[in-house]
Amino acid sequence: MTDNTASITRAVVEAIEKQAAAARPTECCGLLSGANGLITGLHPLRNMAEQPEISYFAAPEDLFEAMVGIRESGRKLLGIYHSHPKTAAYPSPKDVEMAFYPEAVYFIISFEPRIELRAFRIEDSRIENVAINLIADEGAARRE
Ligand SMILES: [Zn+2]
Repeated sequence: MTDNTASITRAVVEAIEKQAAAARPTECCGLLSGANGLITGLHPLRNMAEQPEISYFAAPEDLFEAMVGIRESGRKLLGIYHSHPKTAAYPSPKDVEMAFYPEAVYFIISFEPRIELRAFRIEDSRIENVAINLIADEGAARRE
């Protein structure tokens, strides 16, 4: 637990918002990649959860493909995002249980009571707030 700030481009945030809005009433999910601590790419994943309205479980083949793509492009996995169509932007007990990547920042976007994007680190069942540092874009977000 070192850096409590996550830098992300505005284009990536807008792409998350778009994907999350289109997925309603179900949750959407995906990976975020970049270099030097700046998130510049997003990798949407299909949500295969049994109850996709209240949880997410990334399709394993999507996850595998995204991870290979990130590695081959020389970038790093920096974040994981999903949406909460009906609840606040805070990790659910299940989100905490399923947080397998302590090095990643977990982004959650909520729609109710209002659109809000928040970020957290989740390690050993502890939730820590992460400040989001919005970066003006150099070109469009890469969607892969
Ligand atoms: Zn959640």
